[in-house]
Amino acid sequence: MMHQTHREKAIQRLEDVKNEDHALTSYYQLYQDLLQIQEEAELDITTSLEMVDEVILNERLRSGLPQLPFDHLSIDESSFRDLVQKILDLLLAYQDEKVDKFPMDEEDLITRAKERFMLIQTTDNSDLLGLAIDQALMPYLEHAAGQIMTHVDKSKWLQGNCPSCGGEPNFACLDEDGSRTLVCSRCRYQWRYKRTGCPFCSNTDPKTLRYYPAGEKKAYRLYVCDACKHYLKAIDQRIAGSDINIIVEPILTWSLDKAAREKGYH
Ligand SMILES: [Zn+2]
Ligand SMILES: [Zn+2]
Repeated sequence: MMHQTHREKAIQRLEDVKNEDHALTSYYQLYQDLLQIQEEAELDITTSLEMVDEVILNERLRSGLPQLPFDHLSIDESSFRDLVQKILDLLLAYQDEKVDKFPMDEEDLITRAKERFMLIQTTDNSDLLGLAIDQALMPYLEHAAGQIMTHVDKSKWLQGNCPSCGGEPNFACLDEDGSRTLVCSRCRYQWRYKRTGCPFCSNTDPKTLRYYPAGEKKAYRLYVCDACKHYLKAIDQRIAGSDINIIVEPILTWSLDKAAREKGYH
């Protein structure tokens, strides 16, 4: 059998789920299409790091600085615009919105992409262009993480945000030895974080930190922090097994997002 990438496996898994859960067909289809677009986009990215100074990289890591400045992504402006347009069209079709195509200036788009990259937190999901830009950045950030993170000792990174791109986690895995690995919401890079404590605000007070077990076999957890009102979804590999697809799990666990948001967490 041909080697499948994590994204291709995720698309396949969504196909299986879609056939079992007809009520959510269009939700799963949207993610399948989005992942397919990102898969093709990443294949087209050929930039490689020009110069790697491991001493400087590891120094950055030890001082708690993520590795990637935006300019290091060397984004090709016209392919980026095409990618944003493709994703925006997909999002609009999903929302059933009829909007005239608006002209997108390549330079403006890169400027907006840089702003969104620096922003770290993106909570305004009503801004479809912003959302499309975030999704278009993903293949670039994933590609860059794959290139740069092999040069640093990630065990030295103790922060709650991504050591590669600085993004926030949107998922966690409890590994078979009970330790916790966070997954970046922007580049899907994974790194170890302490078992307890909130990665968003570093709160460690057990009175304001809780988790709720979820799912049929209690394989999922919803961590909430009452200090900063953030939540984090997690899967417990000691129950779910080690064959976890980190791309598909955040999509499948939509009901945990719903429950958390209804309780006022974000
Ligand atoms: Zn990241
Ligand atoms: Zn917190």
